[in-house]
Amino acid sequence: MNNIELNRFWEKVKEEYIGCLPESVHPWLYSLEVSGYDKGVLTVVTGQAMAKDWLRRNHSSQMDSILQKISKNNDARIHILYDENAAKKLKKEVEKIHKKELDAQLKEQAMENLSNMQSSANLNLKYKFENFVVGDNNKFAHDAALAVAKQPAEKFNPLFIYGNAGLGKTHLMQAIGHYTIFNNPKKTVKYTKTDDYISDFITNTRNNNSVENMSKFNKKYTSVDIILIDDIQLIESKEKTMNRLQQTFDTLYEKGKQIVITSDRLPEEIPKITEALASRFKRGLMVELTPPSFETRLEIIKKIAADNDIKADNDALEYVAKNFSKNVRELEGAFTKVCAYAEFYNKPMTLETAQTVLKCNENKKQITFENITEVTAKYFETSTEDITGTTRSQKISTARQIAIYVCRELTNQSFEIIGNYFNRKHTTTLYAYEQIKNKISSNKNISSAVREIKQALKVL
Ligand code: ADP
Ligand code: MG
Repeated sequence: MNNIELNRFWEKVKEEYIGCLPESVHPWLYSLEVSGYDKGVLTVVTGQAMAKDWLRRNHSSQMDSILQKISKNNDARIHILYDENAAKKLKKEVEKIHKKELDAQLKEQAMENLSNMQSSANLNLKYKFENFVVGDNNKFAHDAALAVAKQPAEKFNPLFIYGNAGLGKTHLMQAIGHYTIFNNPKKTVKYTKTDDYISDFITNTRNNNSVENMSKFNKKYTSVDIILIDDIQLIESKEKTMNRLQQTFDTLYEKGKQIVITSDRLPEEIPKITEALASRFKRGLMVELTPPSFETRLEIIKKIAADNDIKADNDALEYVAKNFSKNVRELEGAFTKVCAYAEFYNKPMTLETAQTVLKCNENKKQITFENITEVTAKYFETSTEDITGTTRSQKISTARQIAIYVCRELTNQSFEIIGNYFNRKHTTTLYAYEQIKNKISSNKNISSAVREIKQALKVL
């Protein structure tokens, strides 16, 4: 019997043993390895001494008779030996399995820890650096955020990220948190929306045993390594909260902890902000996010499509990217709408489908500062030169403020850029915007002027 024949023969015998002997001894049967078959004696070895003893003592006659049946030899019998080498081999295999199980357990534990930390830090899983598309509009902000994530409190403290709604401020800020938790799990991260901070502060000051509550409040916000405070502009005019935030800021700063803040405007543009707080915000690095270019927008929706395994025609993607230029959230929303429609009604992701769903009027006049000013001048029966010029008459001042307001509303550009066009400082531009925003609900003349100007621009 050569080796192949021997193995085949043994497999057959073993199969029969497994079929006939009780299940409790199956693991021992699996531990047997054939070693030879000579003159009716089948020798098998095991690395488990117990297997040899037990099988020999309790099952040898049954095993012999099965062997005799298969070999058609009435004298055949099985000889089970304990083998040290087999034992060593077995020990190694067992160790390997244990190690694998241990590794898997450790990995699972690590994943669980990670997700616990992510949720206690209050982070959205989508907002990571890996999911952030870098373009000219956000490269500097992205690189600064990454530098802060790699070396918290060593590079730029605080990091102040500002820009209009939907341009990725929250995303970048939370990416710093994710990066830290993943690469530096000993560091603690806390993300807080400014309105949550405000209401937390108010609840704690209202309570009677306020000393104890305030110390709990302070601890909550100052016992972390990195604090992420989102939408700081919401602190506007809240003097007491500003003072408290200043203390939170100072404690963290002195302890060498990283502070990251986002805002939809510059510190000095936040209404009634204290000078002390504004200057603290400007102490580190301020980076701006501006609207993405067409190429970046296209890349953002291509990434969403790839991540979600969505196949779409290129011209459908281009159509969406072309028509949603000011706000990434709106861009994502528009693309999601097309995808949902295609899925519900089983339509292909073509240009035609995108057009049917979004109905963007591609021929609509592009809204620029020039045509807003032109339409406003016409409404107030004056000229564009007057609006952008120095005249201070009541009528022209109102026209100017309204033009500024509409520019901000419809183009999502920064007060600085709008100010440049109107030959004004950005603080004057901000003031004009706030004036109209406050008057629009109470002053009929102003609200109808804004409505008619927007209508003339065909956006209402
Ligand atoms: P903001 O806080 O400035 O209002 P968000 O961070 O909430 O904006 O971003 C709005 C949406 O756009 C989010 O879903 C975000 O993931 C996405 N987004 C913004 N910028 C990018 C980018 N560069 N790459 C990928 N997604 C982006
Ligand atoms: Mg945000």
